[in-house]
Amino acid sequence: MSEATGDGVALPRPQDVVARDLCRRLAREIVAPIAREADVERVFPAAAVRALAAEGILGAALPTARGGLGWDALQLSHLYEEFGRVDQSVRGFLSVHLGLVSQCLHEFAAEAQAAHWLPRLASGEIFGAYALTEVGAGSDAAAIATVAEADGDGWRLRGEKVWITNGLSAGVFIVFATVDPALRHKGVTAFLVPGDADGLSRERMSGVELGHRSSEHARLRFDGVRVARDQVVGEVGGGFKVAMGGLDHGRIGVAAGAVGTLQACLDAAIEFGRARRQFGRRVADFQMVQQRIADMATDTDAARLLTRRAALLAVHGVERTKQVSMAKLFATEAACKWSAETVLLLGSRGYVNESPVERHYRDAPGLRIYEGTNLIQRIVIARALVGKDTRQGATS
Ligand SMILES: Cc1cc2nc3c(=O)[nH]c(=O)nc-3n(C[C@H](O)[C@H](O)[C@H](O)COP(=O)(O)OP(=O)(O)OC[C@H]3O[C@@H](n4cnc5c(N)ncnc54)[C@H](O)[C@@H]3O)c2cc1C
Repeated sequence: MSEATGDGVALPRPQDVVARDLCRRLAREIVAPIAREADVERVFPAAAVRALAAEGILGAALPTARGGLGWDALQLSHLYEEFGRVDQSVRGFLSVHLGLVSQCLHEFAAEAQAAHWLPRLASGEIFGAYALTEVGAGSDAAAIATVAEADGDGWRLRGEKVWITNGLSAGVFIVFATVDPALRHKGVTAFLVPGDADGLSRERMSGVELGHRSSEHARLRFDGVRVARDQVVGEVGGGFKVAMGGLDHGRIGVAAGAVGTLQACLDAAIEFGRARRQFGRRVADFQMVQQRIADMATDTDAARLLTRRAALLAVHGVERTKQVSMAKLFATEAACKWSAETVLLLGSRGYVNESPVERHYRDAPGLRIYEGTNLIQRIVIARALVGKDTRQGATS
């Protein structure tokens, strides 16, 4: 059996145990104590994130030569799982900073760009954000209308982005703009934009989110933001590949975060079921409750295995888009289902924010939406299976 098939991925390597134990401890000591208040107040937990930076976590995905910890995708899957277990807002911050930005730049940026930005991202001196979505372009990312107009030896960006996580405090953005909207995905280009660029303004999204309430979700405006030619990431017109490359990293983070939600709910259901007595018995001894606990445990393991397989393929540099989508789809659907069931299992205790399960239940639907909705993940999976219709005259 080949290692890359995913067999045996449940058995962690020594370096995975180190990563898991460190992140479990930091999640419990630094993030768990502030998660509820940050959610209620809807404030980004900056002090906690700075404390994680001091432990090297903001550089986990980058090589030691760039100031990072040099963790691979399997170690990172443990990181996202452990932080997701206590707080999806912090896990989301990390998925964007580490996956969508740091790993994406490590993969696609030119040496001078990498040398300038990666050590700052690794140390946490600056946070990263990934700006793709627009009011008129969500799932259809090739429809972006933020334009890059040629301006001497560089570019000027005009347009607006919405729902940009880390968007209020980020020190650098990967911004996707088009050099010609008519070219659709072939016009999309990735630009590096510093947080203090002239003409860039940012504000919090209006409304109160269902979950991820201590994340920064921002609306960005680009009013003629000047970008030098050497701040294009990859090729002009090659930004769609950069965007999708970032998502291949980020989606593993979302899947692993969902495994964290599943594990947290399973732990809560077991603990409560053992302690709570009704009709003279432990709630955990009723067969209908046992059926739910058994099914939740099985789905948690299945989600974890799919996630580890996707991460293992990333470690081996193997094509993995379908497997990443499968992990994201299954784990996030399971997180929605079982967080709702855990609210039921805990009765009234699951319905108030004195239990983290209430927050897990509100955070889980976001996991189905971002980094490609779960309907889009199904399209990715099905396309990989049935291929393209190459018959002449067929529509795509
Ligand atoms: C908490 C949160 C954080 C986010 N962070 C970021 C971020 O950091 N950076 C960023 O760029 N974006 C971010 N987003 C935006 C997110 O990526 C988009 O919301 C997502 O891609 C979906 O786009 P949309 O909301 O416009 O939905 P739409 O694309 O308008 O979709 C609406 C519905 O139609 C369905 N649909 C669309 N096309 C198809 C199709 N071809 N076939 C079948 N069904 C289809 C969708 O699945 C969905 O159910 C974030 C969103 C949230 C909620």
